[in-house]
Amino acid sequence: MGLKVCKFGGTSMADGNVMLRAAEIIQADRERRFVVVSAPGKRFSGDIKVTDLLYECSDEIEAGNLPAFQATFGKIRERFLQIEKEIGKDFGLSESLNIVEKAIMDGAGRDYCASRGEYLAAKIMAAVLDATFVDATEFIRFKEDGTLDEKTFELGAETLKKHKKAVVPGFYGLGVDGKVKTFSRGGGDISGAIVARSLMATLYENWTDVSGFYACDPRIVDSPRWIPELSYHELRELSYMGANVLHSESIFPVRSVGIPIRICNTFRPEDAGTYIVQSSTRDFRDNVVTGIAGKRGFTSITLEKSLMNTEVGFVRKVLDVIGNHGISFEHLPSGIDTMSLVIDNEFLKEGTLQQIIEEMQAAVHPDKIYTHEDIALVATVGHGMAKNVGTSARLFKALAIAGVNVNIIDQGSCERNIIVGVEGEDFAKCLRAIYNEFFI
Ligand code: ASP
Repeated sequence: MGLKVCKFGGTSMADGNVMLRAAEIIQADRERRFVVVSAPGKRFSGDIKVTDLLYECSDEIEAGNLPAFQATFGKIRERFLQIEKEIGKDFGLSESLNIVEKAIMDGAGRDYCASRGEYLAAKIMAAVLDATFVDATEFIRFKEDGTLDEKTFELGAETLKKHKKAVVPGFYGLGVDGKVKTFSRGGGDISGAIVARSLMATLYENWTDVSGFYACDPRIVDSPRWIPELSYHELRELSYMGANVLHSESIFPVRSVGIPIRICNTFRPEDAGTYIVQSSTRDFRDNVVTGIAGKRGFTSITLEKSLMNTEVGFVRKVLDVIGNHGISFEHLPSGIDTMSLVIDNEFLKEGTLQQIIEEMQAAVHPDKIYTHEDIALVATVGHGMAKNVGTSARLFKALAIAGVNVNIIDQGSCERNIIVGVEGEDFAKCLRAIYNEFFI
């Protein structure tokens, strides 16, 4: 018999009725023995995720605003008690909520606070399923530098294999300081992959509110083509570039051991979903492009200097400037005597860009330095593109016909992706032009 690890996202935990639906899905297959859950997410558009409320609580406690904290925590309490009511069972949640509230007030810290949505959701699901609650801090360990400690998998196997059926809260583990530490937002997907890898599961099912990956964002392109199968590499590139279905780091725990991931829809469990596998069996003659994804909100900094290419250490000095600010770059396109850095605007707080420019000027004395603060990056991804003559010609012709000006071009040397940078306002037009060229 196989072993499936199922991770349920926030919309699948949004209220008591949806939790019961998730429980039904789990109980319908005996191989679904280990479950990882997110905190309750949005029930309707405009609703607030429990995790967001928890971050608000943390801000309020840090600011010493106790009445505001209590009001926000009151909303969380109400939400969980409503879930208890909908499920129609007493899980002792009131007491658990009191303990959590007190711990936050006593200074348990931001990550502890943010993680309590998954903690409480896992407690509920464990009771509903009559399974063991296993806290993620028992085996998910982080290293000093914040990355995952490899011993997690061994510890995970040891801890989890003792149980026939268990529920684990997603999104966090234990830091080297012995305190709760969270992954980045949406990190419950990584927790699911860790549990799958620890148990060497036959399948990692990620249950969400869409029936898998689509070749383009359905908010931008009408009814885009569904992708039945993706490779780990394609997934990584599409999710990193904005396809929001799965956290872009979720493949790392499962990739080296080849555990497939299946994206499934809690609200349409009969749909096939998307399989993410080591190497796709798709026939690339059908379509060289697998999918297109993109994001707005980047800034490019371009430096020009005569004979730049002969100046030893030029690029290193430029990179040191952003490195000293704790900023990483997305892309580094270069030409003769010019180089650009593309940076996510999230890194550029008030005044940071100006400061970086001044530091670059002092470090490398460029002839010219200029910025572009509203860049969108769009990635066209597909294994079939490698060694396929004419793909980029088709792409750029489509953009030219659509009147989209391309200011950055970056093709990975693996030939699996072509990334273009365009004006933020051309973002949707760019995605549609590429989609129409390769899929219509
Ligand atoms: N609850 C967390 C978030 O909203 C993690 C997750 O859902 O995976 O980011």
